[in-house]
Amino acid sequence: MAKKKATSSSPARNLVTTSETPKPRPVRQAWKFCPRCGVAAAKTGKNPFHCEACGHTHFFGPVSAVGAITTDSEGRVLFLIRAKDPGKGKYGLPGGFVDAGETAEDALHREVFEEIRLKIKAMSYLCSFPNEYVYQGFILPVTDMFFVMEVETFDAIESGDGEIHGWHFCHPGRKELKNMAFESNRRAMELFLKSR
Ligand SMILES: [Zn+2]
Repeated sequence: MAKKKATSSSPARNLVTTSETPKPRPVRQAWKFCPRCGVAAAKTGKNPFHCEACGHTHFFGPVSAVGAITTDSEGRVLFLIRAKDPGKGKYGLPGGFVDAGETAEDALHREVFEEIRLKIKAMSYLCSFPNEYVYQGFILPVTDMFFVMEVETFDAIESGDGEIHGWHFCHPGRKELKNMAFESNRRAMELFLKSR
């Protein structure tokens, strides 16, 4: 197939096409109006948002998420291969966002079952790290909480909700750690490996 020649003089170079994704920005920059009185914000992007018209203040705190580290009978760690962005094709851990009104532990039970159809037998808290979730053009601050979990059996493992491509049990080395979708997950994994 003939390669289409790129012409630097083409006027199309200066047009913004739909294939160009704008740079993701913090979610606080999306607040253009006060949610209480509706007046346009004098300044956007500040944390907290403050409305000079009515005095309303809103803090953009992080949302909560959970992640699980687990090993099989041979001491190999479970990695999930992410099917979607952010981090499509890279390694992640079972887990996800905590719903309003849910405990972190309940969220882990729910997410692990939804994602890979496994039932948790025991869990213990490991650590937390800040994370940023880039989704649909916005950056959401996240507090990731990590647990070490034991499951009833790995026999039932399967891709439940389409969030993953597959899974990988291994004794992680530099290659696996470098290929993790999130820095927070990598830091938790390093901490876990050191503590063994
Ligand atoms: Zn206001």
